[in-house]
Amino acid sequence: MKFFGLERFRNLLQHDIGIDLGTANTLVYLRGKGIIINEPSVVAINQKTGQVVAIGTEAKAMLGRTPGHILAVKPLVEGVISDFETTEEMISYLLNKATSGTQKIFSPRVVVGVPSNITNVEIRAVRDAARNAGAGEVHIVEEPMAAAIGMRLPIHDPVGNMVIDIGGGTSDIAVISLSGVVRSRNLRIAGDKFNADIIAHVRNQFKVLLGEKTAEHVKTTIGSVLPTHAPLEMPVRGRDLVSGLPKEIILTDNDIRDALSPSIESLIEGIVEVLEATPPDILGDIMYRGVYLAGGGALVKGLPELIENHINMPVHVAADPLTAVARGTGIILEDVDKYREILIENESDLPPKK
Ligand code: ADP
Ligand code: MG
Repeated sequence: MKFFGLERFRNLLQHDIGIDLGTANTLVYLRGKGIIINEPSVVAINQKTGQVVAIGTEAKAMLGRTPGHILAVKPLVEGVISDFETTEEMISYLLNKATSGTQKIFSPRVVVGVPSNITNVEIRAVRDAARNAGAGEVHIVEEPMAAAIGMRLPIHDPVGNMVIDIGGGTSDIAVISLSGVVRSRNLRIAGDKFNADIIAHVRNQFKVLLGEKTAEHVKTTIGSVLPTHAPLEMPVRGRDLVSGLPKEIILTDNDIRDALSPSIESLIEGIVEVLEATPPDILGDIMYRGVYLAGGGALVKGLPELIENHINMPVHVAADPLTAVARGTGIILEDVDKYREILIENESDLPPKK
């Protein structure tokens, strides 16, 4: 019976699923398999019928290109659930996709990572959405905590860990010790804001209007918050605001740096404020152990070095920053009991907003 233990027996009958409900990307982790779904958090809805037309990659391709009656929406805007129904559709689609083709006896056990500024109402909505979509047990974890677990930081120990998760809609800055969040901040400065900064800058400087997808492409291709060894440049197409016609311009890493600098400054200010509010012993731990970056924003070229220069502490980037939260939910699934303390099992577990 040791070889064929109860836990293994249960695994044959039940799926365990971790979901990272990000503002930009939604990932699903299936226990025993790893990350099996990684798609943009976008849902396309036919407004005439109210029906969902597409979800994920397919829906993102429609963004900015839909006919009048089809609306492509992001269910999570700035880390807040903007639309409960679409969120439920999204979760239901993910659960069905993750469990399709297999038949198990019990409903899946689900761990969902949610933005850290989420309200009680939203927690309940996520829980109900997962239940309606067929989940059995539903456990909820705040994303910075899941990211810390995904990066295998010793969150249970009496030692300070600092995590900065720079996502699409929001950046989460959290100091964690003894399984709890000691200090945290949630800023609405992250990947989407960087895209908007690039659009605004190009409109002002070149009188050209770029689409959001183009701005994002420019950011990930030539965006760098520190000067690069050799200048980077690329041609981009947008609408000439004077003639109204298409126009191609050449953008350089310098343009993008100018565009992003106010937001990057605010982001660093936010990090400094959290450090200033952190108790001295924990601050000492962080100085020694360094700060850990996760989320797609950690991939902005030069950002880890720039933060390091400002706070004068080592900055480490997660091995795969875009999947840290999903991997964290996977680690929690391996031993839910070990993580009970950090899971939000009911609404009263939510820490008071600081
Ligand atoms: P969320 O958790 O909110 O869904 P993610 O952690 O998935 O967000 O990060 C998505 C953000 O990361 C997007 O704004 C995307 O543009 C940005 N991003 C992804 N890759 C890169 C890159 N190589 N350089 C800069 N930004 C990137
Ligand atoms: Mg995230």
